[in-house]
Amino acid sequence: MQDTVLIVGSGPAGLSAAAQVTGAGRRAVLVEKEDTLGGAPILSGYAKLVPSGEWARDAIGRMVRRVEEEEKITVHKGTRVTRLDGEAGDFTAELDNGQKVKAGAVVLATGFTHFDPVNKPEWGFGTFPDVITTTQMEQMVANGKIACPSDGRTPERVAILLCVGSRDRQIGREWCSKICCTVSTNLAMEIKELSPETEVFIYYMDIRTFGLYEDRFYWTSQEEFQTKFVKARIAEVTASGDGRLLLKGEDTLVKRPIVIPFDIVVHAVGMDPNQDNPEIARVFGVDLEKHGYLQRAEHYTNPCGTSRPGIYACGAAYGPETIDDSISQGAAAGCRAAADVQPHGRKAG
Ligand SMILES: Cc1cc2nc3c(=O)[nH]c(=O)nc-3n(C[C@H](O)[C@H](O)[C@H](O)COP(=O)(O)OP(=O)(O)OC[C@H]3O[C@@H](n4cnc5c(N)ncnc54)[C@H](O)[C@@H]3O)c2cc1C
Ligand code: SF4
Repeated sequence: MQDTVLIVGSGPAGLSAAAQVTGAGRRAVLVEKEDTLGGAPILSGYAKLVPSGEWARDAIGRMVRRVEEEEKITVHKGTRVTRLDGEAGDFTAELDNGQKVKAGAVVLATGFTHFDPVNKPEWGFGTFPDVITTTQMEQMVANGKIACPSDGRTPERVAILLCVGSRDRQIGREWCSKICCTVSTNLAMEIKELSPETEVFIYYMDIRTFGLYEDRFYWTSQEEFQTKFVKARIAEVTASGDGRLLLKGEDTLVKRPIVIPFDIVVHAVGMDPNQDNPEIARVFGVDLEKHGYLQRAEHYTNPCGTSRPGIYACGAAYGPETIDDSISQGAAAGCRAAADVQPHGRKAG
């Protein structure tokens, strides 16, 4: 029996799984396709995380350090798995760096891909430099200055459009991305903190700041930071004559057309299935669900399972997920995988 778990993906879910596996006395091999560990919060340069309020580089950086300092974890960066043979308890993986890994179980923590808003051309991304995504606004916040990308002026008015690439059947994105309402209400507060003269408007279909986030983010953003919430259907973003942007649509509460000038329009982009998922499904022999995320096994008795025994999954690989829940699922998947392999150092037989 093998003593090693192969973990693919080093976002919050994969880092958590790796720590759990070695905490249980087993070895882990972590394979990450990028040259940097940490997943979306590090690769996309998120600012302060919801709900902890900690900078992503500190919170996720701590998880990265724990993995890098653990001698029972071998890390392959800039690497992919090209082939997996064998079965639960005795897999052999081939990596594109020419190495082979023998492992008793596999954890897929391969996450998601940010929705690309060029797929919603009527909302101006890719046409106007001052139409940006939440990840770009997060980077601005992380760099400590809110400014229009076009000319560097401080924006008087910022609009955040929710559900960009989510809850949109026209473009085949039927799911809710779960965290973008809360991330956007938090972002509005961060903008206001850095640039008190900027007014922030959030345009929404529904606000889904679920659970305890309702009070902590939605009401606080509205009451303490004066974020304006407008229930609306946005038709298009165009240029106004004075170099600003015009947001056009309908205020769906009062049922009136709106045409409002803004300096920056932010798209709250959703969480698409990882674009690698067809390849991941082929290499690892696991099923995808109908939207293209990894298929979850029957959950009640097989948590973190996939369609293939010995292969587990966690986090946003299964569908839109928060960081906190991705970390919990990573720990659970790591636990299940660790139980399938023997403690490091024990002789087989
Ligand atoms: C703008 C924005 C802001 C957000 N802010 C917050 C927040 O404040 N709080 C919160 O709770 N959530 C937030 N989220 C959600 C958060 O990004 C996810 O919950 C989290 O990243 C999921 O972690 P994960 O490890 O499952 O996946 P990921 O973070 O996507 O990590 C997956 C890792 O797997 C690697 N990988 C992918 N495919 C392969 C492959 N084929 N081979 C090898 N490696 C591979 C990737 O490179 C990546 O490192 C935000 C989302 C968005 C879009
Ligand atoms: S969390 Fe909010 S912004 Fe994100 S898809 Fe769901 S309703 Fe839309």
